[in-house]
Amino acid sequence: MLRPYKPSGPYEEGSLLPLVGATLIAAVAGGAVVHLVGTWIRLLIVFPALMGACAGIGANIVVKGRRIRAPLLVAVVGALGGLAAWSTDFGIGYARMRSVAVDEIAAFADEASQAGVTSTPESRTATVDALLAAMGRGEAVGNGALAASLAGAPFPDENGVEVQPLAAASSFDALLGYTRFQASLGTTIEHNGHDSGKLDATGTFVLWVIEILVAMLVGVVVPYLQAREPYCEKCRVWYAKEEVTLSVADYPNLSAVTEAVRHGDPSALARTVAKGSFGKKGFVGLSRRSCPRSASCEAYVQVFRVRTSGKKVNRKNHLTGLMGAETADNLWKAVKEAAGVK
Ligand SMILES: [Zn+2]
Repeated sequence: MLRPYKPSGPYEEGSLLPLVGATLIAAVAGGAVVHLVGTWIRLLIVFPALMGACAGIGANIVVKGRRIRAPLLVAVVGALGGLAAWSTDFGIGYARMRSVAVDEIAAFADEASQAGVTSTPESRTATVDALLAAMGRGEAVGNGALAASLAGAPFPDENGVEVQPLAAASSFDALLGYTRFQASLGTTIEHNGHDSGKLDATGTFVLWVIEILVAMLVGVVVPYLQAREPYCEKCRVWYAKEEVTLSVADYPNLSAVTEAVRHGDPSALARTVAKGSFGKKGFVGLSRRSCPRSASCEAYVQVFRVRTSGKKVNRKNHLTGLMGAETADNLWKAVKEAAGVK
């Protein structure tokens, strides 16, 4: 009798923090490295995928080590990791642009102080925020407006016309301004080293959304699959990776093999066994993974089919589940006997 394997869901107490922590650390590291490399070369979908993979690997280490069998929880954390990695890359870009703006405003404030503009550290920061927000709105910002912002009052420009300070902006408005400004620059698409087009602001936003989704998706895959791996609840250990596989029957007998394995029926399975070579359409196989602690624990059995079309070999798992070790032994023995293998 085969019973489906379902990840049991729980995780050891105190595992959530290491899971989130390792995922975020790996995500931030991946985002930072990609940002650094990105100053030379920018690969549109590959880079977000790499960042997501970093987050996923970080998560996977904890999922495996802490034996977390909660695929949904792991998927959420992996996705957040992918998002964090992308945001790190983007955030470093913002921090760099902001620091350039801070330096420029400081230099400008020193110059302006000789022209009688008094500024405070607060008004300089406010001017940086206002400047970044204005750039996002596509406004041309003149020296008069900057001086007015630093002084916090209208200021005459070089023609003697009073200029109003820039519209006040929060630091979030500044980030938003940077985002819009960056999008307005567009994205150049290169193909084989040649420019083959340019995305406008909207296209760039869409590209970012796609990049974020790619990073999140890639962040999920590896740890999610690990959390779904078979696990021995009794011995508290993951099943061994190595598979003991056996070729059983010709491909057309797939459903007969499936039924025999589902019912743990050795004689029914023996009747399906193909002697000699397999047909052109491929064959049906059996694989078995075991608990590494004890041979008496249930066996994790898969019925898979291998189809060959041309040179392509394609394995697909068809039925998966747990069965008693003895039942599995009997199935294996029946196949070997019927096929005349020792
Ligand atoms: Zn066990």
